[in-house]
Amino acid sequence: MLVLCLGVSGVAAAQEPVDLDMVNRIRQEAFHNSQVMATFSHLTESIGPRLTNSPQMAKANAWTREQFSNWGLVNVHDEAFDDFGRGWEFSNASVEMLSPRTSPLHALPKAWTPGTNGPVEGVVMVVDIKKPADLEKYKGKLAGKILLLDEAREYERAVDADSHRHDAAGLAELQTFAVPKDVDDKARAKRIKRYTDRRALALASNKFFVDEGVLATLSISGWDNGILRVGGGGSRKADESVGVPELVMAAEHYNPLVRAIEHKQVVKLRVNVQARFTDEANQPGYNTLAEIPGSGSKAGEIVMLGAHMDSWHTGTGASDNAAGVAVMMEAMRILKAVGAKPRRTIRVALWSGEEQGLIGSHDYVARHFAAYPEPTDPVQRALPSSLRDSTGTLQKKRDYDRFSAYFNMDNGSGRFRGIYAQENLAVMPIFKAWLEPFHDVGATTVVARNTGSTDHISFDRVGLPGFQFIQDRLDYFSNVHHSDLDTWDHAEPEDLKQAAAIVASFVYHAAMREEKLPRKPLLDN
Ligand SMILES: [Zn+2]
Repeated sequence: MLVLCLGVSGVAAAQEPVDLDMVNRIRQEAFHNSQVMATFSHLTESIGPRLTNSPQMAKANAWTREQFSNWGLVNVHDEAFDDFGRGWEFSNASVEMLSPRTSPLHALPKAWTPGTNGPVEGVVMVVDIKKPADLEKYKGKLAGKILLLDEAREYERAVDADSHRHDAAGLAELQTFAVPKDVDDKARAKRIKRYTDRRALALASNKFFVDEGVLATLSISGWDNGILRVGGGGSRKADESVGVPELVMAAEHYNPLVRAIEHKQVVKLRVNVQARFTDEANQPGYNTLAEIPGSGSKAGEIVMLGAHMDSWHTGTGASDNAAGVAVMMEAMRILKAVGAKPRRTIRVALWSGEEQGLIGSHDYVARHFAAYPEPTDPVQRALPSSLRDSTGTLQKKRDYDRFSAYFNMDNGSGRFRGIYAQENLAVMPIFKAWLEPFHDVGATTVVARNTGSTDHISFDRVGLPGFQFIQDRLDYFSNVHHSDLDTWDHAEPEDLKQAAAIVASFVYHAAMREEKLPRKPLLDN
């Protein structure tokens, strides 16, 4: 049954068809036969964290392929992206204070850093190293020491509620679009300098600390209340020094160490980290892909949906981003279960290397759709793609013109409240029509705004329509993002069911509509 939904008033507004019979079937399957929590549970609790190129990531690639095949999807495969680096995993970590008193301390290792090779004991020393030149003054003074790299940080009492859902005022606020200021070359140059300085310091410190016989380094967690926010350290590249064991410590355990040293006490710790690189040489990373094939004249055209499956290593990568993966997989399962026969091919992608700079999706888009030429300037070449100037003419592949749209989920596990149109005003009336059957479950809002920082940007950057949904934040940015608390417990099953239904309906309608989704003009570089 096709029901015509009137778009915004005015002559230019198209009438965007919505297949309410199909929406009914999708909602029934998503709300009453859901498997989204089974998928979410398997990824988080059976497989666990999925650091790119870790053995657990490989398990997740294999398991998701198997699920897709079991559900009757086709072209199920992994696709490599080159030279990501080595795999890494850790199995245990402990830090004990031995003096001035005894106590266990809460700390976990940064990814891609070495283990301690058994317990090591050493005196703690505060160092002030902000640039490679600062290392010089510590020459000959660090042997057998455990270094505190950060200053103590004053505890900040939370003023905001931990968990947050959008209210009507918050959604209304998202409707405003800030006209961008002129691109500030100085700010850009500063960002690039900050990146290159940080990288230079990391490379120099890694080598220096090894040469000087440092036992381990400790950094303060970025959040208070015992939460450990831990990313990468050392190096994932086989040809670079991995440095010494690096751990992130809970702020409330780190600060007392600094105070004790200020009070001239000798602080002694025992550190034991079991961690290992799982490859000798750099390895490719792998995205997992699967399809529901289209049929008829539009079968060669593509609608995509996806989420990154890689995660950081201290939680179980639940809200970031097993939630997105489970929702995208569930959307595909629903479409098969309701017998959808799309005109365009629907392709799901579970990316890897997202946390290290959208590497998996960027590489995939470059291979299949379009890319700017690799920069020749060595300074530009050394930058991550997000910091590079896109130089030269976009080189389009055959499928560039066959591509309709990409839908992504990576803003935690919170309920969908609408979608960002990514400054593509022509899609807004279409999305408003598609969203209407989901107003009653809280998704009401289509905004022109851009949203960034995840895999839809790999598409947007080359002029392809790529979108993220507006989500309730929950406690994503107060408790779970990249933290050891990013576990199953912080997700709401009803939110994930709602999201899966909306994704299934959006990709179905994108796959069925007469035209591909309109594109916004590609900006000149
Ligand atoms: Zn993420």
